[in-house]
Amino acid sequence: MPLDPKLNAFPVFMRVEGRVVVIVGGGEEAMAKARLLSQSSATLRIVSASPESALLDWARANGAATIVADYAPVHLEGAVMVFAASGDETLDRRVSDDARALGIPVNAVDRPDCCDFFTPALVNRAPVAVAIGTEGAGPVLAQMIRARIDRMLSPSLGRLAGLAASLRASVERLVPKGSARRDYWDEFFEGQPARAMEIGHADEAREAAIELLAQAGPREGHVALVGAGPGAEDLLTLRAQRLLMQADTIVFDALVPEAVVAMGRRDAERVPVGKRKGCHSKSQDEINELLVSLGRQGRRVVRLKSGDPLVFGRAGEEMAALRQAGIAYEIVPGVTAAFAAAADFELPLTLRGVTSSMVFTTGHDLKGGALPDWAKLAISGATVAVYMGRSVAAEVAGRLVEAGLSPDTAVAVVENASLASRRLFHGTLADLPSLESREDLSGPVMTIIGDAVAGANFDRSTPLAAARVAAQRIGADA
Ligand code: SAH
Repeated sequence: MPLDPKLNAFPVFMRVEGRVVVIVGGGEEAMAKARLLSQSSATLRIVSASPESALLDWARANGAATIVADYAPVHLEGAVMVFAASGDETLDRRVSDDARALGIPVNAVDRPDCCDFFTPALVNRAPVAVAIGTEGAGPVLAQMIRARIDRMLSPSLGRLAGLAASLRASVERLVPKGSARRDYWDEFFEGQPARAMEIGHADEAREAAIELLAQAGPREGHVALVGAGPGAEDLLTLRAQRLLMQADTIVFDALVPEAVVAMGRRDAERVPVGKRKGCHSKSQDEINELLVSLGRQGRRVVRLKSGDPLVFGRAGEEMAALRQAGIAYEIVPGVTAAFAAAADFELPLTLRGVTSSMVFTTGHDLKGGALPDWAKLAISGATVAVYMGRSVAAEVAGRLVEAGLSPDTAVAVVENASLASRRLFHGTLADLPSLESREDLSGPVMTIIGDAVAGANFDRSTPLAAARVAAQRIGADA
């Protein structure tokens, strides 16, 4: 299956109020479609030469027109939708062909090749409707999802939505567009009006909604520095998800997965500031300025960073800029790459009796003459997680060995931690330099060094040494 499968049927809501929907058939299937359609305000026309009496009774009770006659194309005239539900293949095909000839979308029960559209499983809280389609996966799945969504939505949602519809023009007139208006509706659908409607007090709900209108005004900007996690979208925190759904603007880095950015509101502005190694599309100063200026405009901003925002995320600079500008901000932690890599490897970062401390580092501070302080920790047994360490793998390994760490110290490497495309490698410090020359590694890479690595599960990892040998061979050939 492709990574990003496409829908073969695109969901839309068809306007049926005051329009005719034709159902051809007189039995069970026709009845099922009639019942489904009677949840709408469509005018139903049922055509059958020999309708069952239950169907006739139902039609009479529900104000549906019945035409008791052999089907003819003229019966389809003026319809916006046609259902071929006679149970008879030849007839259903004829109906489908005729409807298509007239340019009317048609659905033939149990004959997908004769269908221009499919009916969804429906959660009905009119005027709110949730339609569920599962294409080939079948009705059982659709019904299961339907039941789940049904439980999620309060029975009073329809009445609340009706109230919202009646107030919409006033809200648009009185509350400025953008975040203030969104706040209004947030409060409407989750605050006092919703609570009053829930217990059946429609008048009280209306009063509360009108009172809210009097209070609505412009709002202060806010920036949330949010950890998007290591890549898998379900490693996002619930808080991050909630803020994403409220954000006016989402500012995100290159490593943040598209699926996470997509969780934002549909009309949220999305700004990639794509820092990938070697090609900065915006400088850190420009990003700081952007956040400040969005905050000044009263926007609700989610600044999405991969992993945890406080780990090699330059959050310090962004927080300082926001603080200085007097813009409110908050931090939402995320699952940092080291934790995701350790989880993929089933690698205990602390191990009783072996190691009780851990270092988060980047190899890039090894360039100077002096060893950084963390090298001492590594030598005294800490587990070391190296971020952005691929291009300096040889430097890291060389300097650590020089400082006294055994070349046999265990090393675990994970590319694309937490993603389906993850790859695991293991070896020793002596194998680590081979990382630099591996051109097959295109995703982000996390390196974990230390004795605790020995406690990992190597069932799904390949030895780094193989690449080392290959690299040496290439070196010798050259
Ligand atoms: N704030 C991020 C780190 C950003 S620095 C965090 O907490 O994870 C970018 C580095 O993180 C990459 O060079 C790589 O070393 C590491 N990284 C990020 N995502 C990763 C992933 N899915 N798998 C392996 N390493 C990853």
